[in-house]
Amino acid sequence: MKTNLKTAISVKNICEGFVYNELEGKGLFGLSGKLTIQPEYQRNYIYALDGGKREVAVIESILKSYPIGLIYFNKISNDNLEVLDGQQRITSIGRFITDKFAIVDENGMEQYFSGIAKDKKDKILETKLLIYECEGTESQIKEWFKTINIAGVPLVPQELLNAIYSGPFVTLGKEEFSNSQNANIQKWSAYIKGSANRQAFFEAALDWVSKGNIDDYMSRHRNDKNISEVKKYFNSVIDWASSVFPEVESEMQGLEWGRLYETYHKESYDPKKISAAVQKLYGDPYVKNRKGIYEYVLGGSTDTKLLEVRVFDEATKRLMFLAQTTKATTKGESNCPLCALGHDANRGKRWQLSEMDADHVAAWSRGGATDVKNCQMLCKTHNRAKGNR
Ligand SMILES: [Zn+2]
Repeated sequence: MKTNLKTAISVKNICEGFVYNELEGKGLFGLSGKLTIQPEYQRNYIYALDGGKREVAVIESILKSYPIGLIYFNKISNDNLEVLDGQQRITSIGRFITDKFAIVDENGMEQYFSGIAKDKKDKILETKLLIYECEGTESQIKEWFKTINIAGVPLVPQELLNAIYSGPFVTLGKEEFSNSQNANIQKWSAYIKGSANRQAFFEAALDWVSKGNIDDYMSRHRNDKNISEVKKYFNSVIDWASSVFPEVESEMQGLEWGRLYETYHKESYDPKKISAAVQKLYGDPYVKNRKGIYEYVLGGSTDTKLLEVRVFDEATKRLMFLAQTTKATTKGESNCPLCALGHDANRGKRWQLSEMDADHVAAWSRGGATDVKNCQMLCKTHNRAKGNR
């Protein structure tokens, strides 16, 4: 069976000549008559059931630019395509465009397609769908359709890709990476989140070696009789991570190790120093995002954004604001200590609380704590300027 990824087909193209049969409850045709939306072996349209929540959700997803998932066509000939998977979504879109149901807008008003603003109309019509065109014999297609629709258990994306690119490469990949007998799985699970059975490890291995282009990689290697490149790259990443960070912590699981390896593996690190830095940050109550510790340390401990260091709470800010303002009023100067040092009109300005931000007197990265003793209120301009230094 052959598969082709199509990314240029828009909602407008699909809905050209859309026909919905009220009597049979089926979306019939689209794509200027070339597409049969609900072939015989498909169930009827069910997204209008339960008050139509699901068909409305399809339209809202498109308006918010959320992905609506992969769609599969069976290519019978150049002028004849059938929807294998995606008929409910396509019928929802066609029914909306032809004013069969309404969505509710920001103001709680019901809106039919013909009544919505032009930019929203264009957004819907110009949205491109992600479509796989499959070519094969009827029995191949039906067999494959069965495998992508295992009753009650939706396939995860990697399982779908395994089905699409089935062949020697996938077989070997699964033997190595989704085999619960493989003693390495335990070790790997320090770095990878998810279950080997549901292809999380194979997916990570492919994601790393392909720099995020799994689909393209699998299509190029589909008929390979070995997976040595994937294995070699995967082991390099794991070996690197485990030598730089000898202690295993639960926050390591599911980090983007492939990207971290690519970015930092040419730098040299002293595992003892790294380990001490990591432990220190783990013990720091101001670090909110422990997952960010690893990249923070790898990058030379400068990018504090990664750690989401705790900010001053409202009570502390108010307390400092009152203290500074009282003092400034007696002295007749600005309640922003940096403005008070200046020579312009702001020198005597008393800012409102809402016009000021809290600042660490001693920077957190140099050991300054997030408590009242290390807090000062600055006007927004000065606070920003200080943060940018
Ligand atoms: Zn100021």
